Amino acid sequence: MAKKVVVVGGGSGGLVAARMVQTEATRLGADLDVTLISASERHYMPPLWSEVALGTASPEETWAPIKNAEQAYGFKVVVDPVKTFDLAGKKVTTEGGATYDYDFLVIALGTAYGWSDYKGLDKYGYHNYSEEGALELKKQLATFKGKKIVFLVPELPFRCGIYPPEMAMNVRAYFEPRGLHPEITVLYPADAIRMALGEGLDRFFKRRFKRHDIQYHAGFGKLIEVTEDKVVTENGEFAYDLLIKAPPSRLPKVLADNGLAHPGDPRWSVVSGPRFQHPDHPEVYLVGEHAMPPVGLLTAGVPIHNAAVIAGASILSDALGGYMIPSYGDTLCMGHSFESGFAGNCEYWWIPEEGKWGHACYTVATGPMVRLMKDSFYRGWLDALR
Ligand SMILES: Cc1cc2nc3c(=O)[nH]c(=O)nc-3n(C[C@H](O)[C@H](O)[C@H](O)COP(=O)(O)OP(=O)(O)OC[C@H]3O[C@@H](n4cnc5c(N)ncnc54)[C@H](O)[C@@H]3O)c2cc1C
Repeated sequence: MAKKVVVVGGGSGGLVAARMVQTEATRLGADLDVTLISASERHYMPPLWSEVALGTASPEETWAPIKNAEQAYGFKVVVDPVKTFDLAGKKVTTEGGATYDYDFLVIALGTAYGWSDYKGLDKYGYHNYSEEGALELKKQLATFKGKKIVFLVPELPFRCGIYPPEMAMNVRAYFEPRGLHPEITVLYPADAIRMALGEGLDRFFKRRFKRHDIQYHAGFGKLIEVTEDKVVTENGEFAYDLLIKAPPSRLPKVLADNGLAHPGDPRWSVVSGPRFQHPDHPEVYLVGEHAMPPVGLLTAGVPIHNAAVIAGASILSDALGGYMIPSYGDTLCMGHSFESGFAGNCEYWWIPEEGKWGHACYTVATGPMVRLMKDSFYRGWLDALR
């Protein structure tokens, strides 16, 4: 009988894992039954939400129908949110009441946003961490008449590490041709922007901030509260006319409700080892954003892509009795501001005694070409599903 592979989540991690297992099974003539279950009929490319806010993409350009993956890649797609994970019984049930048994399970559910975990953060400020949020921010930018714009990163790690500094420069680029020069400040809890992308990129951002007159206030420590006109931190208060905020990352509720929180930090999911497995259920793979920090990886699409390929290859190896499992690939991250782009790369290696990936990062390239590559990657990715 065909072995059953169930993939929960129709975002970056889910699509990559299902596509890898199905296309390789088809190529090798292996009998695997692959089903992807998602809560949404839309497969989003979230970085394009910043383009929506800046007016350079429409909301329709940020997603493609996940159902199209059935025809493109050959696995089944079900749109019906998963409600329970029964790891002992090897089955999941959906809100629609259907039950799916599995031999292998892949979970990639992104992250939830803990706006209400800081006083005032849910009430004040705008963001583009969702399609609706991006449309709201677009309105705010279009009608902005004030003097001070503050970008706030409430805590680390947060969704896509380089994103707010990148957006700060793009907001400067947005206002320049409109003849406006608001004061722009990036508020960052720790001392360096780079997260795990290396000192080269840290220097790059600092140079760019200087050139474009963006204040970088690093090391504010703890966020105390947000009021209607200021951000209060343990190291000072910052007045704003427009606040643009990143969300605190939290574990998606369905994972918390089903006992899948990480024992050391409930913001993330349980995960272990270089193959992203559940410690007690090796047939369960956790490759979504919620599983990256516990193994030392960034909360971004690129590491999730790598994790999904490793999980897919591990499933093929177990199901077929042999398949080469790649080691973790490089993590190339691209960003842009004004006409130019930048790319940083990290190389990773597994450190067994720490249970984490070690890394070395460096800047690969800066220049307009990187910007074009980034734009065409996001749009081409979605075009493959249209
Ligand atoms: C503004 C912004 C900019 C970004 N920029 C970059 C960047 O430049 N580079 C980069 O690498 N990354 C970037 N990212 C991060 C990247 O988009 C995410 O890390 C990545 O999409 C996470 O992949 P995922 O598969 O874990 O979850 P997601 O892609 O978020 O997908 C989660 C999926 O789970 C589904 N789901 C939710 N609940 C259920 C349920 N109960 N049952 C079934 N399905 C469910 C959802 O419908 C969705 O399909 C950015 C993100 C944002 C918001």
